[in-house]
Amino acid sequence: MFADRAKISIRSGKGGDGHVSFRRELYVPNGGPDGGDGGKGGDVIFEVDEGQNTLGEYRYKRKYKAQDGQEGGKRRCHGADGEDIILKVPEGTVVMEAESRKVIADMSGENRRQVILKGGRGGKGNQHYATATMQVPKYAQPGQPAQELEVLLELKVIADVGLVGFPNVGKSTFLSRVTNAQPKIANYHFTTLSPNLGVVDTENGGFVIADIPGLIEGASEGVGLGHEFLRHIERTRVMIHIVDAASTEGRDPVDDIYKINKELEAYNPEIAARPQVIAANKIDCIFDDEESPVQRLKDEFEPKGIRVFPISAVSGQGVKDLLYYVKEMLANTKQERIVFEQEFFPEDILLKENLPYTVERSKEDPAIFIVEGPKIEKMLGYTNLDSEKGFAFFQKFLKEGGILEELEKAGIQEGDTVRMYGFDFDYYK
Ligand code: GDP
Ligand code: MG
Repeated sequence: MFADRAKISIRSGKGGDGHVSFRRELYVPNGGPDGGDGGKGGDVIFEVDEGQNTLGEYRYKRKYKAQDGQEGGKRRCHGADGEDIILKVPEGTVVMEAESRKVIADMSGENRRQVILKGGRGGKGNQHYATATMQVPKYAQPGQPAQELEVLLELKVIADVGLVGFPNVGKSTFLSRVTNAQPKIANYHFTTLSPNLGVVDTENGGFVIADIPGLIEGASEGVGLGHEFLRHIERTRVMIHIVDAASTEGRDPVDDIYKINKELEAYNPEIAARPQVIAANKIDCIFDDEESPVQRLKDEFEPKGIRVFPISAVSGQGVKDLLYYVKEMLANTKQERIVFEQEFFPEDILLKENLPYTVERSKEDPAIFIVEGPKIEKMLGYTNLDSEKGFAFFQKFLKEGGILEELEKAGIQEGDTVRMYGFDFDYYK
């Protein structure tokens, strides 16, 4: 088994509940409320660890939980905050929501640390709820609930150049040749079935090559191991197609290129469109009297803008020219390192939970609609409506919770008022 993929469940800490208590002092019969606030729940944080290069650890332990916040105490005692949990992953790990596979975080480049699930806020103790009319508040705010999520971790290696090709065309030989030529080999110790990375040194800076094993026909449909490795090509900016120009296993090299490109196209057309170069390998095994396969490759692909370099990974012939050209290609691709953008925001889970609420038209004024429900009250408490972001968040909450729809059903018109727990909003579509 390879360790570059794992599915785990993560949970942040619940916020501690606020406390209900009253001062008890000798000779003071009715002390005021003194219930303290609950502590904040711990966050779930992902962090890049340079010392790690597989996700092996996460295949054995599958559940990760941050600590809950503690309940508030008497005498205004604040409950202790729950401890965060920090999950260390190798650079290049992409964290996705397990079901939709939407990206939550790409742990690469500048992103060394990201909070994935926030701990719940602690509830306020009853000390905050005394008013002129309510001197003995028996209410304290509950802590915000924990968030829970199944996530998929995938290691997508960080390499500038990907080596693709059928098995036994000479990818590993090529990689060991071009990286062994210089003693500076990246210290990635992948297991046998994981991609191998190596640094190629050139006069003006090096680049990283990944040997992507197991790419075979049908890979894009998940046949064999190929699919497992296609994702490692996702970040590479340039591809070297290696073909066996000597057809030592009887396959046709022109055919091979078309087949591999078809797999790439099926997997992700954007990858197939990235710059490519063909390494026609094993030329030391081609003999003069044959029809030159290198010429056939050139005739077929050079008019399409794909250069062909005859090489021998074993003898080293032609390798230098190829690397020089690859270096040039990298310099000419505008694309920077490929980073996966966030598409899934765990905070939104809170919005999607069931929302019991009521929508009612005011008896006194038909232009006022009263919305009530515990979640709405809570959400109002958490949201800073004075900030633009907070207000937008609250609007989104109303929309996604189906509340706007309910209001429309109840017959709300432009310019009417929506009243929620003392807040009045003008209604506009
Ligand atoms: P991979 O599966 O693509 O990684 O292929 P390997 O690098 O493991 O090579 C498969 C076989 O082809 C090995 O026996 C290599 O020694 C051989 N081979 C690789 N490159 C060359 C080459 O340039 N010339 C010759 N004659 N054999 C090669
Ligand atoms: Mg190999």
